[in-house]
Amino acid sequence: MPFLLFRFGILKNNMDKGFLKKFEKKLKKGSVLIEKILKKSAKKDVKPKSDWDTRFPDFGKTESGGGISEKLADEVEEYGNLLAIEFNLETRLKDINSALDKIKKGKYGICEKCGKEISLKRLDIIPEAKTCLSCKK
Ligand SMILES: [Zn+2]
Repeated sequence: MPFLLFRFGILKNNMDKGFLKKFEKKLKKGSVLIEKILKKSAKKDVKPKSDWDTRFPDFGKTESGGGISEKLADEVEEYGNLLAIEFNLETRLKDINSALDKIKKGKYGICEKCGKEISLKRLDIIPEAKTCLSCKK
């Protein structure tokens, strides 16, 4: 079984194991972070949910009143994907988990639409990307 995964997944995909590890790390970090944010927002229950779906709150105004801590804000910045932050967090979490699943199955980095490899540059920005750049358009 591991042989098959190797043969039809990672090998076909031709993705360097070092890259794979790097993306896996990124994805896991992102998933932990989003879960943290979602949990906090659920507990807080002050802002309307739709607000959470579209953007992060203004970190500058949430010092201690149960908002997102500065440390968390730093982590968000560290994860640093400004574009992705505009996405729905729950959707993003789902995508991240499915990307992690793909890593396990050796199918990571392959476009869901055309079956070609997604460029490393794109994955570096959006590690949970499901499609290549040309299919995204
Ligand atoms: Zn494609």
